[in-house]
Amino acid sequence: MELTKYIEKFKKIETPFYFYDIDLLRQTLREAQLHSQMIANSTIHLAMKANCNETILSYTKKAGFGIDAVSGGEISRAIQSGFTGSQIAFAGVGKTDKEILIGLDNDILCFNVESVPEIEIINTLAKACGKTAHIAIRVNPNIDAHTHKNITTGLNENKFGIALEDLIPTIRKIQNLSNVDYYGLHFHIGSQILDMECYKQLSLKINNIQHALEGEQIQTSSINIGGGLGVDYEHPQEHPIADFYTYFRIFKEYLQLRPHQTFHCELGRALTAQYGALITRVTFVKKTRNKQFAIVDAGFFFFFLFSLYQAHHKAINLTSDKPCEKYDLVGPICESTDIFGEDIILPQTQRGDIIAILSAGAYGHVMASQYNCRPLIREITSEQL
Ligand SMILES: *Cc1c(COP(=O)(O)O)cnc(C)c1O
Repeated sequence: MELTKYIEKFKKIETPFYFYDIDLLRQTLREAQLHSQMIANSTIHLAMKANCNETILSYTKKAGFGIDAVSGGEISRAIQSGFTGSQIAFAGVGKTDKEILIGLDNDILCFNVESVPEIEIINTLAKACGKTAHIAIRVNPNIDAHTHKNITTGLNENKFGIALEDLIPTIRKIQNLSNVDYYGLHFHIGSQILDMECYKQLSLKINNIQHALEGEQIQTSSINIGGGLGVDYEHPQEHPIADFYTYFRIFKEYLQLRPHQTFHCELGRALTAQYGALITRVTFVKKTRNKQFAIVDAGFFFFFLFSLYQAHHKAINLTSDKPCEKYDLVGPICESTDIFGEDIILPQTQRGDIIAILSAGAYGHVMASQYNCRPLIREITSEQL
């Protein structure tokens, strides 16, 4: 992402704010779309929980993507942004009745369900509306995604999905209910996955599952392999676009889709992280006996993910080209975890310098809070400058 050309503009704007580079956004969408076409009948769904900015939704819609929603609010927001219900998959372990009704009202593509009680409730509510809901079953494939334990979701010990042993009885259950149809299989094994071997394992597992289902004369219309493709947080400038090629190539090579089947994936981080930056100003530089702190005006209330699973984001000083020194880059909050980086190398930094925290487009603004009565942080796109 080319930030230097915006420095003069950034200087005039009150910090902190999230900045989105629309050129890189469009390039990212183009590249993802291009490589997904290796696979017939494929649709990429934007996992809206990573970023639901209106401009981003609008470009994503224009590029022909669908939506992966995890709440009724996200479904409504997607519809407002021009997506049709048939482009929306609805996931989540704890859908409320109200949220299910929002899905039914909008005739969404499918409910990705995680338990039998959920199927029963969807059936009851669908019956009351005179509709039939498409059900995709989230299967827990018990695959280790080799990522941080707080973002691993596909192991037996996680709360997600239905265990493999329960899959066929669950499908039979759906077939016996009047207002739900068995539509497909859904998987999601974790987030920030860089070890592509996991996706090969997942493909092979899905092949076995399909084989077993066909042995029972069960036809599956759609396979949704979830999201989780990781990005390069350490070298975002060298690798501004996730490795979509390898991701789709693996499924192309190992996943045996049937001719009639549609293929879906749900990407959040890979579609949104790298074109976002958190732009913040240095309030003070504080030297102690053995440390040097650069204190900035953004804290973890704007970027919750730092404390959630110790994400490491690259920070750059946009306004200094002096020789480098070591700093702890910290926010103003009264918490020791309010820290963006320890012992990071920055050009000599002073009060007023503008620091960009990179790869901040995913799970950034969507999680921002107003902790300490601070105003909610704004989002500014390159088109608005
Ligand atoms: C969070 C989530 C995603 C997106 O995850 P990323 O790691 O951001 O790609 C996709 N599918 C489901 C079901 C999710 O919960």
